[in-house]
Amino acid sequence: MSTIRKEALRTVRNRQLIQVTAPTAKISQIFGENVFDRKSMREFLAEDVYESLMACIHKGTRVDKEIAQQVANGMKNWAVSKGATHYTHWFQPLTGATAEKHDAFFSLNNEGEAIEAFSAGALVQQEPDASSFPNGGIRNTFEARGYTAWDPSSPAFIFKGPAGNTLCIPTIFVSYTGEALDYKSPLLKSLAAVEAAGVAVCQYFDKNITQVTPTLGIEQEYFLVDGTLFAARPDLMMAGRTLFGHAPARGQQLEDHYFGSIPERVHAFMVDLEYEALKLGIPLKTRHNEVAPGQFECAPVFEEINLAIDHNQLLMDLMEKIAKRHHFRVLLHEKPFAGVNGSGKHNNWSLGTNTGKNLLSPGKTPKSNLMFLTFFVNTIKAFHDYADLIRAAIASASNDHRLGANEAPPAIMSAFLGSQLSQVLDEIEKGKIEHNEGEVRSLINSIKAIPEILLDNTDRNRTSPFAFTGNKFELRAVGSSANSAQAITALNTAMAKTLNEFKEEVDKLIGNGESRDAAILTVIQKYIKQTKKIRFEGNGYGEEWRLEAEKRGLPNVRTTPHALDAMMTKKSIELFTKMGVFSKREIEARHEILLEDYIKKIQIESRIIGDMALTKIVPAAIGYQNQLITNLSGLKALGVNGAAFDAQTKMLHRITEHINIIIGKVEDMRLTRKHLNEVEDARKRAIGYCEQVKPFFDDIRYHADKLELITDDELWPLPKYRELLYIK
Ligand code: ADP
Ligand code: MG
Repeated sequence: MSTIRKEALRTVRNRQLIQVTAPTAKISQIFGENVFDRKSMREFLAEDVYESLMACIHKGTRVDKEIAQQVANGMKNWAVSKGATHYTHWFQPLTGATAEKHDAFFSLNNEGEAIEAFSAGALVQQEPDASSFPNGGIRNTFEARGYTAWDPSSPAFIFKGPAGNTLCIPTIFVSYTGEALDYKSPLLKSLAAVEAAGVAVCQYFDKNITQVTPTLGIEQEYFLVDGTLFAARPDLMMAGRTLFGHAPARGQQLEDHYFGSIPERVHAFMVDLEYEALKLGIPLKTRHNEVAPGQFECAPVFEEINLAIDHNQLLMDLMEKIAKRHHFRVLLHEKPFAGVNGSGKHNNWSLGTNTGKNLLSPGKTPKSNLMFLTFFVNTIKAFHDYADLIRAAIASASNDHRLGANEAPPAIMSAFLGSQLSQVLDEIEKGKIEHNEGEVRSLINSIKAIPEILLDNTDRNRTSPFAFTGNKFELRAVGSSANSAQAITALNTAMAKTLNEFKEEVDKLIGNGESRDAAILTVIQKYIKQTKKIRFEGNGYGEEWRLEAEKRGLPNVRTTPHALDAMMTKKSIELFTKMGVFSKREIEARHEILLEDYIKKIQIESRIIGDMALTKIVPAAIGYQNQLITNLSGLKALGVNGAAFDAQTKMLHRITEHINIIIGKVEDMRLTRKHLNEVEDARKRAIGYCEQVKPFFDDIRYHADKLELITDDELWPLPKYRELLYIK
């Protein structure tokens, strides 16, 4: 057997379980241990400093220099007490990963002596030499001045390294001229917009609601593979997914993994991950197997959105780190294995209030149900009106493989409401709203029919990209490797705009003498009518839905370069600029970054395919071809002919044919890339890569996978699907 694969399999066979020292402390004792949270702040900050900082966080105002200096001191003392030697601004550039640049906690005093120091300036603002982060032309590389700025609303934390700990300060990342170069800054703007719009609408129902807080619970799906097998697969190492590999004889058909017990090694990994996550204040709560073999999920308790997304980004880092400790590698890619379920990141989204109300949860009284209906219908309207922007916000080269494939929501954007609520909306749609109070009251009676608790409804639809699940909407179309901020920024902004328009319309009707409830119901009724086509309760995976959606005029944009077009429309620019989330220049820059990212990903995969095909697969097949040739000439020398001889000759021809096709296609693919690289326009180049380069992937793979099935197993160099997917 190819030595690399043989060695890898031997290593896997001899794996010992990595023991975790099962945490004896209660979760309440370790939770947030490595976070500069309220408890640590109280301990390390003077009371007035603490109060001022809290007020700034609460109101979203600037922390003044004096206070910042005191916070910096307290934060440093806390961090040093936890063994931190360095600090870093922690930010989320558009590369998709998080970025850090570490500085030590020391400076030199006038005498040239080293002292431990951390100034307000260092806390509040930094200038990473970040010329290599993508900026879509905003910042020329020779003018490499972007800066990071402290986000006090997300607490600092300590990330433990093998040789020392680092204080991480969540920050935004903007260009010198103020344009956002990251995910966090537009997210914060979108949150401010939806919070303000939400409060204004809540005022119709409850004057005590002075604050609306969008909430998010992110379910994270992932695969685990053994670290040694991973290392024997250049495609996994460099592209995060397998670019070759025949489906195993036993795949997902039995569906026994989902309910199966968690393998011991995986269990140890999960316990370790949860322990480390909890110390970082990430409230991980749920763990289970997923549908595919080797696939798992974890989910935290929901949090305020900015924090939930920071925590998810941090969690992904942590997963990679802890997985290595257990000799695993975590695959966050949306589609690591062809023909096997892909991974998503289910974003459970809702709006909470300072009065403790979940605005997407039906209440006890007709009045609170009217408030629920208002937010419910406005969310559907926002999703309906801006579905193309949400589609664009979940687009990536890796998510393209998942949308519409095995067990993943389709690229057609639709919303699932469940039969009970669909019925309520249908009734309201048909109901007659008149000026007289009696009519309004009778309509409210139909609202009364909304059951208080929808959570236990069995009405679950796993095939919808946007499903109402009793007290929240679940955006399931986001890819497992994505930063949720991109999709959630679009959703928040759409919601803010929709709520603003709703309020305008209601106020206008009230101004014309309509009663408040009648006005609200009138607009709700109108929205229900306008958004009907986006509602779908059936099987989103089915072919019938594709045809039905086409009839309804719902777009089905299957690839990233085309999905991204929506960003550049007049509607998009108007939405984001009006709501103060992006400037036109920022949208253009982002569009370009996303196109370039797409091109790069396809280009890299294409190169890996060429490389693996020519240096691993073809040589293995030639090895077997040689064995057959030797055998055939031996047979011939002995005068053997007839059936035995013919069968092997046929086999030899098949192998030869596959090899020839692979070699030819790899060369054609290379020439196509070369030609496309000359194309100046990024969009055209991206479409070229999508429509001309990508088709080679399947072609080449088809022949390589056929070879895998007929080549001597002893010669095959790559760990096979059955070896990768079934964890020992
Ligand atoms: P499932 O969807 O698998 O039934 P749950 O409904 O318990 O699981 O929750 C899934 C995720 O949704 C969890 O992260 C949970 O914290 C989150 N979630 C629950 N309520 C809300 C809410 N009001 N806002 C945002 N996320 C929520
Ligand atoms: Mg869920």
